[in-house]
Amino acid sequence: MAKKKIVKKKKTLSKRVPVKKIKRKVTALVKDMTNESYSLQKNGITQSLMSYYMKCKRLFLFKINKWESEGYNHTTSFGSLVHDILAFLYKGAYNEIVVLKKESIADCLNYLIDLYEHEQEDAGKLDGIDLQEWEWEKAVTSTVLEAYIKYYPEDFKDKKFTEVETELVCDLFDTPIKIKLDGKYEIKGGKNWLMEHKTKSRITENTMMKRLSFDFQNLTYLTVCEKIFKQKIDGVLYNIIRKPGIRKRVNENLVDYKIRLEEDLKKRPDFYFMRYEIPYTDKDKSNYICELQSVLSDIGEMGPEKSSDDFYKNPYACESPFPCNFLDACASGKMSGYNKRKLLFPELSTLNEVEK
Ligand code: SF4
Repeated sequence: MAKKKIVKKKKTLSKRVPVKKIKRKVTALVKDMTNESYSLQKNGITQSLMSYYMKCKRLFLFKINKWESEGYNHTTSFGSLVHDILAFLYKGAYNEIVVLKKESIADCLNYLIDLYEHEQEDAGKLDGIDLQEWEWEKAVTSTVLEAYIKYYPEDFKDKKFTEVETELVCDLFDTPIKIKLDGKYEIKGGKNWLMEHKTKSRITENTMMKRLSFDFQNLTYLTVCEKIFKQKIDGVLYNIIRKPGIRKRVNENLVDYKIRLEEDLKKRPDFYFMRYEIPYTDKDKSNYICELQSVLSDIGEMGPEKSSDDFYKNPYACESPFPCNFLDACASGKMSGYNKRKLLFPELSTLNEVEK
């Protein structure tokens, strides 16, 4: 019997491959943006979020919708690295490593920077970073902080820190106010002070003291601490670390750059490290409370019924002191080049989910 030829049926296009739906990336438009889900009473507020609102309502709108510019990596910035290494040091790492184990300050810093790097790596926060730039940031940070520790030895011997990097939340005007405190310490006579670290590239010394006498962040932290710890806080030690401005020379390697930076830090430490002791009176504190109430009441008005036009732009804030990350969005009206992050308060590790 002749074998029956098996003729394979040709699949029609529709049977062979399910027609792939080509997903087109839809770019969000700034004009369609509203306050989708943020609630002052439910989510609470941080100092950063209040400062965005005071600076520019449109910036606040972007932030409450969790937008951030693509490629923005806070983790690898000099400020962030310095801040986190200082937290390790003030939490006791300096005494454990340098005093007890008798390691050098440089070794202690390298160990802490490695630790920080591993933590960030595990959290996927170093993905896609510029490795060369990162090596420079680490080298600059360790050089600057070695000089810092030598300049302020009393911080690690005499100062009695009762809080370091503490996250706190307390209700003021029916709003959870969330803060992350750099430090709180006790001085002789049982008086309490807060410490706030700032890294800056530009410092306006002649006006700084006046501005700090009514600094919104200092007074927010102080008010929250007085409420939570039920004790009087006398003031804030404003601790400034200047970001080195000396540039890398053509063909200069990292080792030579570090040596040049070390020499500059030795020559003029008071240029890099500055501290302002700001005492706050009861009058300063009560004035602040009135201002806080006013700011919270304005923010509370920005409910879901408001359009993006209500969150109007402030062109006077776009370039000062640095270009705003949302300049492209405001100029084009589109959110291409921006992503949504997961957390409303990325700077906090424990208070994102606290709801009333
Ligand atoms: S670019 Fe200017 S207007 Fe736009 S969010 Fe930033 S500060 Fe506001």
